[in-house]
Amino acid sequence: MRPQPLWRSFGLLQSVYSRSYQSFGLGRRAIQTATSTSQIPDFAFAFDIDGVLLRSSKPIPGAAESLALLKDQGIPFILLTNGGGKHETERVAEISEKLKVPLDASAIIQSHSPFAELVKGPDEHSSLENKCVLVVGGKGDRCRLVAERYGFKNVVTPGDIFMANPSIWPFSDVFKDYYKKFARPIPNPLDPRDPTKGLKIDAIFVFNDPRDWALDAHVIIDVLLSSQGVLGTLSDKNGRTDLPNKGFLQDGQPHLYFSNPDLWWAAAYHLPRLGQGGFREALEGTWAAITGGPSKGVELKKTIIGKPYQGTYEFAEHQLLRNRARTFETDAVRPLRNVYMVGDNPESDIRGANTYRSRHGSNWHSILVRTGVYRGGEPAWTPKVIVDDVQKAVEWGIKTSGWKLTE
Ligand SMILES: [Mg+2]
Repeated sequence: MRPQPLWRSFGLLQSVYSRSYQSFGLGRRAIQTATSTSQIPDFAFAFDIDGVLLRSSKPIPGAAESLALLKDQGIPFILLTNGGGKHETERVAEISEKLKVPLDASAIIQSHSPFAELVKGPDEHSSLENKCVLVVGGKGDRCRLVAERYGFKNVVTPGDIFMANPSIWPFSDVFKDYYKKFARPIPNPLDPRDPTKGLKIDAIFVFNDPRDWALDAHVIIDVLLSSQGVLGTLSDKNGRTDLPNKGFLQDGQPHLYFSNPDLWWAAAYHLPRLGQGGFREALEGTWAAITGGPSKGVELKKTIIGKPYQGTYEFAEHQLLRNRARTFETDAVRPLRNVYMVGDNPESDIRGANTYRSRHGSNWHSILVRTGVYRGGEPAWTPKVIVDDVQKAVEWGIKTSGWKLTE
């Protein structure tokens, strides 16, 4: 994904998010001090959600109090998660309810939020608005509904494809009742007499963790091996040594996007569970077995967004700046100097904050908590500080920034 469209996306995201910005309005202090720019905080917080604020959907002790304190003090914050699978308005409503803190959709960035910008794309030619996009992952077809709310008009899921032609992966028979609940007829089913007239996929988005890895991986691989993205075809360029990438992905196949690189995530089980990154590794391993893979000079071309990537942090910072300017209702807002990124995952939260280079001159400081994926010991990426939980992280950030709490 090119960096510049990320900036353009906010107008679009705002148009699809709830516009109830009033509820983002910070607390008493923000209102009292909005005219006094020296009293506007020059720092903010960014919080990961799973393993920091919630664990298995249950609030982590101190999380609610921490967010309430920040709101009361007029200190901006944003939630930056590699999770997803629901629209931002739904996700933020759930978190507000669980933590008893009013939040609106502009306060959250999920892994797939930046996909919204691809509806229009950087130019008319690359717009995916009316193209057929394959949306993979998530529960039922919730991610299809999210994609439609972003503005994609022609969304299919592997479940639709399976129900139209169960022989595509016979072992998913055991999930037929599941798919039956949400599958829609596909716009252009396979015609066995002429497969070239079948469904043409123009982009593949892994929106969220796949539930049926085998079907999802198989459908993605079918499309990547096809001619022009037409399901049921096989490109005759595959394997040709006279072509770049040994002929693979040289025949108009669609681009593949992943929203979340996390290998692990913290769930109710006592050990971390495989995330979307695990699915991607499995897919890449299968792809390598089919094509020869990197050892034979064959690459699986793809775009990965989400933490720890620069683009996702840019996206988050831009949203923070917008929220901040709106909240304090002044053009003379002091520059945002410091952002404290609180996370439980060294590979995504800490690495992302450590390597992020802000175009606005802000410094991002990583704070690792012990309530999620991190199990102690030397983390793979060294944070500025390790603390027990989010409450300690907020205390540390406020103290380090020199902010004086008001009564
Ligand atoms: Mg986490």
